[in-house]
Order: sequence, then C-alpha cells, then structure tokens
Amino acid sequence: MCPVKKNQDITVEIIDLTYEGLGVAKVDGYPLFIENALPGEKVVAHIMKVGKKFAFAKAIQHLKQSPYRVKARDVQLTQTGIAPLQHLSYEGQLAFKTKQVETIFHKWPSLQGINVLPTIPASKETHYRNKAQVPVRKVDGELQVGFFKKNSHDFVPMTDFYIQDEIIDRILQSVRSILTRFGVSAYNELKHEGVLRHILVRKGEYSNEVMVVLVTRKQKLFKGTEIANEIMAENPEVVSVMQNINEAKTNVILGPNYRCLAGRDVIHDTMLGHEFLISAPSFYQINTKQAERMYQYAIDHAGLTKEMTAIDAYCGIGTITLSLAPHVKEVYGVEVVPQAIEDAIKNAERNHIKNAHFMAGKAEDVIEDWRHEGIHADAIFVDPPRKGLDPQFIQAVIAEEPEIISYISCNPATLARDVAAFLEAGYQLDEVQPFDMFPQTTHIECVAVLVKNRG
Ligand code: SAH
Repeated sequence: MCPVKKNQDITVEIIDLTYEGLGVAKVDGYPLFIENALPGEKVVAHIMKVGKKFAFAKAIQHLKQSPYRVKARDVQLTQTGIAPLQHLSYEGQLAFKTKQVETIFHKWPSLQGINVLPTIPASKETHYRNKAQVPVRKVDGELQVGFFKKNSHDFVPMTDFYIQDEIIDRILQSVRSILTRFGVSAYNELKHEGVLRHILVRKGEYSNEVMVVLVTRKQKLFKGTEIANEIMAENPEVVSVMQNINEAKTNVILGPNYRCLAGRDVIHDTMLGHEFLISAPSFYQINTKQAERMYQYAIDHAGLTKEMTAIDAYCGIGTITLSLAPHVKEVYGVEVVPQAIEDAIKNAERNHIKNAHFMAGKAEDVIEDWRHEGIHADAIFVDPPRKGLDPQFIQAVIAEEPEIISYISCNPATLARDVAAFLEAGYQLDEVQPFDMFPQTTHIECVAVLVKNRG
C-alpha cells in the first residue's frame, strides 16, 4: 500500500538530495523524490506520480528554507533539465558534488579509505558552455529554438539558455530567424516530416571562432548555400556552416554524414597553449577553461619524466595527448572516431610535436596491438565516456603494469567501479579530485591518479 496518492498535497521534511538534484523525504519509509526541495527544508509537496516503490512530487510551498537556497532564475530551466541545481547556491552545489562522490566511493568497502577532496569550482557559474545542441520547432508560424520539458513532448521556446556562452545564444536567434525567412520547415517527430531537426553551435573559447551545424532530415536543403552565407554575413564569428543529415526516426541528434555549406569545415581553439582544429564529429570539452585546469592537475600529479612513455586512451582530437607530449619521451593516443584521429594528427603537426602518435580504433583493442608491437607505457591516461572502461581494457592495462594510471571521469559511479578493479590488481589511490565542469547541473567530473603499489 502506498502512503500517498496522486495530486495529494503533503507536508514533509527533506533529508537528502539525489544525484539528480531531487529532494528526498520519507513517508512511513516510502521515499518521495521532490523537485525544488533541499535538505533541511520543510515543504508542502504536491504528488505528481505514484509508483510501487517511490513517488515523484514538486515542492509548492516552503515552510522552512535551506540556508543554501537561492532564488531560482526561471522554473523552465528546471522543467527542461537545463539547470536542475539553479535553486542551490554555488557553494551548496560544490558541497553537493563532493558529497555525491564520497557517497558513491564509500559504498565500496575497498574504497572507504580514499579521501574525496573539495570540488574545484568553475570560474564561470553561468554561460560557460562552448557548445549548444538545441531542437527546432515551429511555434505560431516562426521557427523557435528551445528545449523539451523532461519526460514530455512539450516544447519550450527559449532565448537565454543560461549556461551557454551568450554569443551562442545570440547566434541561435539569428540562425532561427534566417531559417524562418527562407521558409525552412521544422521537424515533426510524430509524423517524421519537416526539414530542420536541430541546430548545433560550437565556439572556440579563445579563438571566438564559431561553427553552426544544421541537422536536417533529408540530404536536400533548399537554398542551403544562400542560408549558410546569410548566417555568416549576419554573424562575423561564424567561420563554418555545416549540414548534418539524420534521416532516421530516432531521438539521437546526429546522423552519420556531414557536408560543408559555407566557410571551412573546422574551427580552431587553444588549450594549455596548444592550438587545435576541431571538426564537427569530434568531441571537444564543453567548458574549456575548467578542462584546462583538470588536465593540468592530471599532468602535475602523474610524476612524468622525459624517460617515460605514455598512452592517452579515449584521446579525441588529442588535447590531453599534446599536453603530455612535452613532459614525456613518447605519447600514444587512441580514439574510436576516425575523424577525431585525423584532427589529432593535424593538431600534432600544427604544434610541431613529433613525439605524439595516434591510432584510430577501440582503446581495448589498440592497447593490445601496441603491446604486441613492443610499446610499453609507464603512464596511462584515460578519459572514457560515461559507461567507463571496458573490462577488456582494464585487463590489458593491468597486464601492461604502468607505474601510473591517471583516470579522468565524467561519471563517479563507473570511476568507483573501475578504481576498485585497479586496487584489487595492486594499485593504490589516496585521493580523488572532483572538478565542477558543469555548474547548475548535477554532472560531476573527477580525476583519480592511481600508483602501482611497490609494497
Ligand atoms: N580526452 C578527450 C576526449 C574525451 S571524451 C578530451 O578531453 O577532449 C571520450 C572520447 O572517447 C570520445 O572522443 C569518444 O569518441 C571516445 N571513445 C568512446 N569509446 C571509445 C573506445 N572504446 N575506444 C576509444 N575511444 C573511445
């Protein structure tokens, strides 16, 4: 029997905050997950959805407020999932992230001795993203950019996205009005009709160069070149307008094929003093300055010497690889997206770096190929996607016996799991350093530097 009913209003005290930023309250042991509620608060919660094991609710009145509460900027930023922590002060957000990592790590008996350091704040708390990826819909005859409310098809048009670079917000508005002028239709996901699905904008933090990608349902984009020229004429920062074709009936944003509509097919940017070119399909860290700090931390804590060989697995366009190059004898980067490896090779040449070598492929396969070729790594840097390291990759690293494993992670849960595997294989980890790359959101980035136990 559930102790609550849908649409009921109930007064509760908040005892915790989930990793998604929802307040937790319990009614006779039954958990309520409550939007806009912080630990220590007493709220009137409106029950929205009741399940067997828990219910979702939203706080409609705050009877006692947390000292960490700040005025939310706009309720839609929570409803769309853009800024789920906007009602928590920045200090509170940092403490929340440190505690999340502690909770996750300390669930593992072998990780209980690891010290979780205080989360390093970002220099910008809003408007820090160098990339936007937004759906386009037609509202009252105009194309609009915005976001969908969580778990719904309700589209919310937006002009200020709060966490994106302001220049990106301005360019999005310019692009949507140009597209409206050219009579481009918006995608309709129910009927799988219409032309324009998403607009992507990516900006170099230091270069201020901007790439716009128009994601279309079909190859054909009527007056594509004119549209692209108009976008470049109206926005001097735009040096590249690309088209991405996504014909599939899917909520995956990008399709496999790109073509250049105007300008170049890459933008440039700088990280830790090296210049990078970035093509549309390549991954690029979305908070450049905080990523630089994180890379620097990983380098400073690895104890690198010019006698060492390093591997940078999951290397993308080679940002970490090239940052490591001056500190080691040789460095090898591996990455699964071939275009990113093409970028990485050009980036090494551009920066006159001769001791960085790249291979396209899966890290778990390539690391074994390298071993058969006699390449032995003293330090292995990894920066995998959210799912963490492949078990085959972990086994290959353990067989390689590097002195140092430097793990950059965007998901503390898979980081903890993988660290536990390395500890069992004779590595040691004293501390983990969280970095706030994504203020106002619940995402947490961490660096963990493991050392081979000589015990
Ligand atoms: N270190 C880079 C990229 C990190 S993002 C940077 O900081 O910019 C993670 C990268 O891992 C992405 O570029 C993704 O394409 C790549 N990737 C995902 N699975 C992989 C695999 N199995 N082997 C190698 N690379 C992989």
